[in-house]
Amino acid sequence: MPIPPRPFTVVCDKCGWKKTVVPMSDALRPGEWFEQCPRCGNKELKMRAAGWLEKAVAEFLRRW
Ligand SMILES: [Zn+2]
Repeated sequence: MPIPPRPFTVVCDKCGWKKTVVPMSDALRPGEWFEQCPRCGNKELKMRAAGWLEKAVAEFLRRW
């Protein structure tokens, strides 16, 4: 049984940008992965598990 991918948050330490991603499947699609910060161009983005609030917000936004 496949395990659903866990939501995660991408964070930029330089400018404070962050985005919570709720993957639809194991394969990340465009818009679900960031090679660099869209705001400042920092390529050393950090990933962490999404908090419950971030996860709830991201799942809510995904419906629209
Ligand atoms: Zn940034």
